[in-house]
Amino acid sequence: MQPPRPAFDWWPWILGSWLATALIALSSLFTGIDRHWLDLNLRWLSPSDDARSVLVVDIDEASMRALAARGQPWPFGRDVHAAAARRLFDLGARAVVFNLLFAEPRPGDEALSALAADAQRPVVLAADVSNEFRPALDEAARSRLQALAAPPGSAAPAASRWEGLLLPTPVLLAGARHLGVQRTALDSDGRLRCLHAWHQVEGQVLPALVTAALQMTSGAPGDAACITPLLRTHTDALRVVSLVELLDAQASAALASSVKGRTVFIGSPSVLDAQAMTPVGQIAGTWWQALAYEAIHNGEVLAPRRPVLDAALLLIAGAPLLLGLRRRVPDVRRDAAASALALLAMLALVALLLWRAQPVGLPAALLLLLAGGVALAGRWMRRQALDRQQARVDSAAAQAAERATSQFLAHMSHEVRTPLNAMLGVTQLLGETPMSPLQRRYVETMGHAGAHLTRLIDDVLDLSRWEAGGVTLQRQPFSPRALVEELRSLFEPQARAKTLHLSAAVDDACPALVLGDAHRVRQVLMNLLGNATKFTGGGSVSLEVMAAADRQGLEITVRDTGIGIAADRLAMVFEPFMQADAGVAQRFGGSGLGLAITRRLVVAMGGEIRLESAAGSGTTARVKLPLPACEAPQTPAHGGSSTTPLGGKRLLLAEDNEVNVMVVQGMLRDSGVLLDIARDGREAVGMAIAQRYDLVLMDLLMPHLDGHEATRAIRADETGRGLAPVPVIALSANTQASDLQASLAAGCLAHLGKPVEKATLLAAISQALEAAQPVGEAASAAPPATS
Ligand code: ADP
Repeated sequence: MQPPRPAFDWWPWILGSWLATALIALSSLFTGIDRHWLDLNLRWLSPSDDARSVLVVDIDEASMRALAARGQPWPFGRDVHAAAARRLFDLGARAVVFNLLFAEPRPGDEALSALAADAQRPVVLAADVSNEFRPALDEAARSRLQALAAPPGSAAPAASRWEGLLLPTPVLLAGARHLGVQRTALDSDGRLRCLHAWHQVEGQVLPALVTAALQMTSGAPGDAACITPLLRTHTDALRVVSLVELLDAQASAALASSVKGRTVFIGSPSVLDAQAMTPVGQIAGTWWQALAYEAIHNGEVLAPRRPVLDAALLLIAGAPLLLGLRRRVPDVRRDAAASALALLAMLALVALLLWRAQPVGLPAALLLLLAGGVALAGRWMRRQALDRQQARVDSAAAQAAERATSQFLAHMSHEVRTPLNAMLGVTQLLGETPMSPLQRRYVETMGHAGAHLTRLIDDVLDLSRWEAGGVTLQRQPFSPRALVEELRSLFEPQARAKTLHLSAAVDDACPALVLGDAHRVRQVLMNLLGNATKFTGGGSVSLEVMAAADRQGLEITVRDTGIGIAADRLAMVFEPFMQADAGVAQRFGGSGLGLAITRRLVVAMGGEIRLESAAGSGTTARVKLPLPACEAPQTPAHGGSSTTPLGGKRLLLAEDNEVNVMVVQGMLRDSGVLLDIARDGREAVGMAIAQRYDLVLMDLLMPHLDGHEATRAIRADETGRGLAPVPVIALSANTQASDLQASLAAGCLAHLGKPVEKATLLAAISQALEAAQPVGEAASAAPPATS
C-alpha cells in the first residue's frame, strides 16, 4: 500500500514572511531607510551649474570689525542695511531680501523703512513665527499685517500653523511692502528638506521669505504644502559678497555683474545664522534660502510623490510572488528569474522617473520583492524537505517490498523444487529399470515434462529476481568454441528428430578465450536456439559466432527458416508473457518468457539484440556482446568432467526426506560407493565425528540442526582434533547466489541446487574428492568454491 504523501503546508512561510515585512515596513528603521533613499535622490539630482539668479551678502566678522572701526559697532544701525540695499539697487539688483529679524528699534530704522516703501526697489523684510511665545500685537501692527498678508483663502489649507508672530519694529512695518517668514520647519529627523511656502499665524496667511522673494520676481511657487528644492552642492555654486566688500567697492565691473538682475539675500551665514542639516550637508539659513530660491526659480524641484507610481512599482515587486504561487509545484529557477526580472524592471522604472525628478518608493518595493522571495524560497525549501521525506518513505517501502519478494522467491523455489527433485529423480531411476517400449515412452514423456517444468520455474524465478535487482554477473574466462560445440551437441538430437539441418560455426578470427559470464551467454543462446528449433518445421537452423569489427566482443547470429514473426508483433515478443500470436502457445507451447529474459541478460551484459523476421520467411536473431579476449586462465572454466573412480568411497548422506534419500541412493547405486544415511543434522554430526567419511552430502533444511549448523559443528570438531576437512556438498532447493555464499561460508565445498541430475551429482562428488586432501593431513587450504 502506498504510504500517504506528507501534507505540503507552506502557508506558515508566507504568513511569517509577510508579518516580518509588515513589521519592518511599520518600524522606524524603514522610515529611516525611506528618508535615506529620498536624500540619495536629492543628491543625485543636485544641479551641477552655478546659481545665476541669487547673490548672498554675508555680514561676516571682517565686516563687523571694519564697521566697528568706523564707529558702527555690532549691532549696526539700520542705516548700514539701508546703505547696503541702496548700493545693491544701484548695481542693478532685482530685489533685496533681509534674512534678519529687525525686532528691536535701532537708529536708522527710518532710512530703511523709507527704502522698503519704495515700490521701484523691492525689499523683503523678515518676520518670524514661534510656538513657544506669542507677543501681543497692537492695532497698528494688526492692520499692517492684514495689508501685507496674502489675500484671504489663498494657500491657507497647505500653510504651516503657528501660535505666535514676531514682526519688525513698528517703524519698519509702517514702510514695509513685502514681509516673509524666515523660519522653515524641519522634518521629524531634524533635516531640512522642503520649503514650507506658506505660514498661517494670527488669522493671516504669510508667505515664507523665499516665497515672498519669488512672488516679486518669477511669481508665487504654487500652494503645495512643501516644495523640495534641488539644492546645489558644490561649494562655489553660490556667489557670496561680504558686506564690507559691497559697501567699500568702487562700482567695480566684477561686482556689478555679480549683482545685476539678481535677487540678493542679506544675512550672516558665516557668523550668526542658524545652521540646518540638509540632504546635501549642513548649511546656514541664508545660504539655504538663496539656494532654495535659485532652485525653485529655475523649476529645479522634486516632483511630489505620486501614489499611482508607487503602486505600479509595488505591483512589479509583487509579481514574482503572484506568478510563483500560481505554479502548483515550486520551481526555484523560474522564481529566481522572475525576481531578477522584476528587480531590473523596478530599477529601470526608478531610473526613468528620477530622470524626470519624480521620486518613487523604491525601499518599500524592494522590501516587498524580498518578502516575496523569502516566501517563495521558503515554499521551495519546504517542498524539497517533503520530497526528501517522501523519497525516504518510498525507498523504505521499496526495500521492504524487495525483501518480501526475495523471501517469497526463496520459499517458492524451495517448495517447488523439493517435490520436483523427487519426481525427476525417480523418473530417471525408473528409466534405468527394464520396461516395455510403451512404458519407456511414458517415462520419457514424464521426464521431458519435468525438465520443461524445471526450465519454466527457472525462467520465472530468473525474471522475478531480475525485477528485484538480484541477478549478478560473473566475469571469468571461457571458450566460445567449447560453448558452441556444447550447444550443438545439445540441440543435435532435437534437430535430428525434426529433420532440421543444424549448423554451428565459429569464425577463425574469434579469440580462443573471452571474459564474461559463460552461464548467462549459454542461457541466451539456448533460448534463441530453442526458439529457432521450436518454430521451424523443416529446413535449417544455424548458429554463427564472429569477432566484432572493433575486436571488443562477439557477434552472434541465430538463423532459422521457420514460421517467422509478423512485422507488427516483432517489437512485442520481447515483453514478458508475449507471444507472436495466440495460436503459438497452443501449437508450440512456451511461456513467452524466453525472449524477455534473453534481452534483459544481453542488456545487463552491455550488449544488444535484434530480431529480423517476416511472417513465413524465417527469423534471424543478431546479438552483440562486449566480451573482450583474454589470456588462458589457470583453471579453464570448461574443464572435462572428472573420472575419479568412486568405488569403495564411504559417503554420508544427511537427508530427512524419504523420497530424496531414495533418489540419491538410486543415483549412486551403480557407482560402488558405500552410503550411510543420517536422518537429521544432529545425527549427521554424530556420525561424522564417530567415523571419518570421504565425503558428506548435506541437505540444508533438516530438523534439530540444519545443514549449515551441522557443517560448522563438523568443522569445529576437525579443527579441535587437527584433522583435514571432510568435503561437504550442500544439497538444497534454494539456488540463489546468496544461498551458495552461505554454504561456502559455513564450510561447504560446493552447493548443488535441487533437482539434481545424476550426472551432475556424480561429477560434483568426483571433483570434490579430487580437490580434497588425503584423510589424516592437517587442514590448511580453503576448499575451492564450485557449484
Ligand atoms: P516462448 O517461446 O516461450 O513462447 P519467447 O519469449 O522465447 O517465448 O518468444 C516469444 C514469442 O516470439 C514466441 O511465442 C513466438 O511467437 C515468437 N518467436 C520467438 N522466436 C521465434 C522464431 N525463431 N520464429 C518464430 N517465432 C518466434
